[in-house]
Amino acid sequence: MQPRWLPKFDLHRLILALAVLGVLATFGNSFYTIYQTQRQLLISSTLEANRVYAAKLATTTETMLLSAQNQLAYSASLLAPLLQAGNGRALDGEVSRLRLQTHTFNSVVIVNTDAVVVAVSPETLQVKGAKLSSSISQQAIAAQKPLISDPFVSLSGNYLITVSYPIFNKAQHYLGYVAGTIYLQSASILSTVLGKHYYQDGSYLYVMDRNNTLIYHPDKKKIGRHFYENPVVNEVLQGREGSQTVTNVDGIEMLAGFAPVASTGWGIVAQRPLSATLTGLDEQMRGALMRMIPITLLILFIIWFSATVISRPLRQLANKARLMDQQEAASNISGIRAWYFEAAQLKQAILKGLGLLNTKIDKLHNDSHTDPMTGLLNRRAMQHLLDGYLLRPKPLSVIALDIDHFKQINDNFGHDVGDEVIVSLAQLMQQDVRPDGALCRSGGEEFLLLLPDVTLEQARIIAERLRLKVASHEMATAGRITISLGVAHWPGHEESGLAAVLKRADESLYEAKRQGRNRVVVTDAD
Ligand code: GH3
Ligand code: MG
Ligand code: MG
Repeated sequence: MQPRWLPKFDLHRLILALAVLGVLATFGNSFYTIYQTQRQLLISSTLEANRVYAAKLATTTETMLLSAQNQLAYSASLLAPLLQAGNGRALDGEVSRLRLQTHTFNSVVIVNTDAVVVAVSPETLQVKGAKLSSSISQQAIAAQKPLISDPFVSLSGNYLITVSYPIFNKAQHYLGYVAGTIYLQSASILSTVLGKHYYQDGSYLYVMDRNNTLIYHPDKKKIGRHFYENPVVNEVLQGREGSQTVTNVDGIEMLAGFAPVASTGWGIVAQRPLSATLTGLDEQMRGALMRMIPITLLILFIIWFSATVISRPLRQLANKARLMDQQEAASNISGIRAWYFEAAQLKQAILKGLGLLNTKIDKLHNDSHTDPMTGLLNRRAMQHLLDGYLLRPKPLSVIALDIDHFKQINDNFGHDVGDEVIVSLAQLMQQDVRPDGALCRSGGEEFLLLLPDVTLEQARIIAERLRLKVASHEMATAGRITISLGVAHWPGHEESGLAAVLKRADESLYEAKRQGRNRVVVTDAD
């Protein structure tokens, strides 16, 4: 019987689905991990590169400013006697030399203790003889120390810083100071140092002074602005060097490296857009994908093949087990190659089950066709035989027989002896039954003998021989018994069914009883 519902998934599909899912998950996971690792690597290496770059620039700027101060220091020692002597030509010569020879300064001035400019280069600035009222100048005179100013806008409108150095005579009497300016927006030694940065992929650097003012930026319009909320600027202006990811004012994510310039309190920040850093990554990942796809396809093919080979024995067993009621079921199942443990066990179990089932069926079949007491065929078996004869009609003689006065045997010797008599008679008769004939116990002590291809006359002779054999046989307890026999043949004179021949044999038997028992009566007419 087929179950009404069968699951849609078979083992092959399940293994396949599981393995494919596993491969895809592994594939996806590896791909994602590689992507993340590469991304992190690129980001951290860029951050580090920017930090190193900012630190390098900070050192260069620092060195440049110190060298500027050293130049002024040397000059200051030369200038003291000239300033005291009021040698204007010599002073002019020295400021020109300082400006032109070193290219460090955009302009150079010598200022006396009254804050009056006594020499200037270039002369085009036209401040010679002017009294400087700026706080920077006052600061320099008051401090009498080397100073680097904060950025400011000069009289002539330039955004600049000044590097100043005090002038003392041999008696350590303060005479004024010599100062050089370095422009922040126009061409200067500072913009030469900072401007070498590579700007093409959106990378740039900027410099903040200690007051949080932007003093250098590739976009000159931004110079002079303040930034308060930038974490990178906060860090660097506190004198710390490092790197971090930051979103700039235009909302672009940047990888920033930063370093302070100690002598001025400035902070230098070098940064590169995150997107520019990652452009190569997509290409790299596409390349990795292309390399992974063929191998993945190969793995998937191997999985499909393995799933087929693994599931085959179980599928075959399942298919054959559904057709267990077929004749060749056992040989079909034996032919299945169960090459691994579970399949082999299952195959053996099915074969064993099938064997037991067949034995059971055979036994049930026998039981239902055999009379348990005598081992002879019963009425049902006889009916089967007759049905078989009907399919292949051939002449058939029937002998019906019954023990005479059996009741008396039961009465005289008991029921058990009666049984023994029935069994002994059965054995006695069975010795004479031909292979194609059949002996059935049709009732209590009544029997039917079916004799195919035996004429009525031959049947009568057989019946007579049987009667004599029984009559001369000594039963163990009951002694001698007799039987009465009725013989009939099919087909008779008229066509009639097989049931009729049994009836006629019975009638003949009845007639034999009526005629006095222990005899054979033959009926040859319908
Ligand atoms: P007759 O056939 O000669 O007319 O006389 P009979 O005494 O044999 O009468 P009948 O055949 O009608 O009776 C059969 C008796 O056989 C009836 C029943 O008690 C007995 N009998 C039937 N089956 C069995 C059996 O299996 N064992 C025993 N011991 N007795 C049986
Ligand atoms: Mg009887
Ligand atoms: Mg009887």
